[in-house]
Amino acid sequence: MAKERIVVIGGDAAGMSAASKIRRVEPNRDILVLERTDYTSYSACGMPYYIGGMIDEVDSLIARSPEVFRDKFAIDVRTRHEVVAIDPNIQRVTILNDQQKAVSEPYDQLLIATGARPYCPDLPGGGVEGVFGLSTLASGIRVQKFIKQEQPLKAVVVGGGYIGLEMAEALVRQNIEVSLVQRGHEVMDTLDPDMGELVSQALRDIGVKLYLSEELKAFESTNGRVKAIITDQRTLPSDLVILGMGVRPNSELAEAAGIELGVYNAIKVDERMRTGTENIWAAGDCVATVHRVTGQPFYVALGTVANKQGLVAGTNLSGGSMTFPGVVGTAVSKICKVEVARTGLQEKELLELDFDYAAETIKTKTRAGYYPGAGTITVKMTAEKGSGRLLGAQIVGMEGAAKRIDIVATAVTAGMTVANLVDLDLSYAPPFSPVWDPVQTAARQLLKKL
Ligand SMILES: Cc1cc2nc3c(=O)[nH]c(=O)nc-3n(C[C@H](O)[C@H](O)[C@H](O)COP(=O)(O)OP(=O)(O)OC[C@H]3O[C@@H](n4cnc5c(N)ncnc54)[C@H](O)[C@@H]3O)c2cc1C
Repeated sequence: MAKERIVVIGGDAAGMSAASKIRRVEPNRDILVLERTDYTSYSACGMPYYIGGMIDEVDSLIARSPEVFRDKFAIDVRTRHEVVAIDPNIQRVTILNDQQKAVSEPYDQLLIATGARPYCPDLPGGGVEGVFGLSTLASGIRVQKFIKQEQPLKAVVVGGGYIGLEMAEALVRQNIEVSLVQRGHEVMDTLDPDMGELVSQALRDIGVKLYLSEELKAFESTNGRVKAIITDQRTLPSDLVILGMGVRPNSELAEAAGIELGVYNAIKVDERMRTGTENIWAAGDCVATVHRVTGQPFYVALGTVANKQGLVAGTNLSGGSMTFPGVVGTAVSKICKVEVARTGLQEKELLELDFDYAAETIKTKTRAGYYPGAGTITVKMTAEKGSGRLLGAQIVGMEGAAKRIDIVATAVTAGMTVANLVDLDLSYAPPFSPVWDPVQTAARQLLKKL
């Protein structure tokens, strides 16, 4: 096993977590990483803060450069190398190398960690300059350069998910007039609309013009550069368009090689991150996982998940044993001063799955009311009637609000009831929370409805 050659496709969170783990365990293992951009181990999550000018140097978003991997970790990282085909029968990958030449490399074990890409609908007038989606660091650098060189005055963000919202804030910070078009009734449709409404308001408060229940239909351009977007209700002038309409897994390479796909066209893997094809593994945004509340296949594209799955793949590829048990749908974000978090199932999902559930929403303070900096926090919590099992929570509030979701995420993962949550011995001092932590206040109120 130790002499087997490992080839990794994709040099970011999942791919490099795996490669680094293998190197730590097996100093002599032959590891080849193929990455089509110039960068490895970068924080895509940090891009909105770089574009917004809160972080000056793009280098601070790079945890480890290709040179560091080569020189310090003896990992053969080849940037500007794009894998264009996998042949599982002869265990080789075909690569378009940095000279644009097709070459082929053998593997004993292959890890696919190709990530995801922003969804870009095929609409009239598309494919013009000034329209960007964000995924890799290279894509973030392109946006930053465009803003610096072209100094756009008006931007439209299409899509009200967390990437769209973080980008809307970033553009406001660059003094650009920002409009946001969102198909749903409120932004953040991973929240229930009553909670999403609070986030919509937070965006209006920083000057973002919201066009809700509206859909992108076409782009208008002059000399190949975007000048406006057309929705089903109006034309919005725009020198810059950011697409935040969700992502699609980069699974085409796997599909073409006959590797089985699962939900959302993401690569199907088992708990150890093995695909259905011999000696081929996959991890990160390109794979499907399992939702631990429903037990159903699920797709999520998050850095936390990608890093863990990379570690699991790397552990199993270096003789160890580790599994990835799935997710409970936990996510967190911040739009200016407002923190947003969710875990478990939202009401729309509970209704679809025919759960008999109760929901409760409370509003309280993040700290003792008299303590400086106490801000509002709204917690919505759901649980199954009868059993009392916690099913999810959503939090919107000021500083200190969002990370409280981790208490609920832990409780949901453990299959705890609302009563169990009320019984938890959580910490208290005035600078941190009211005597009853807001999640326990929500749980106490919800208990009355079960
Ligand atoms: C703006 C933004 C903000 C985000 N914020 C957060 C956050 O706050 N919290 C969070 O948990 N997650 C966040 N994410 C998501 C997180 O960045 C991703 O989930 C994570 O990067 C996925 O890691 P990955 O390794 O699976 O894929 P990626 O990071 O996409 O890496 C895949 C790599 O594979 C390369 N590649 C693809 N195809 C090929 C090929 N054929 N040949 C060679 N190389 C190839 C790509 O160039 C890329 O470098 C954010 C993402 C974006 C875009």
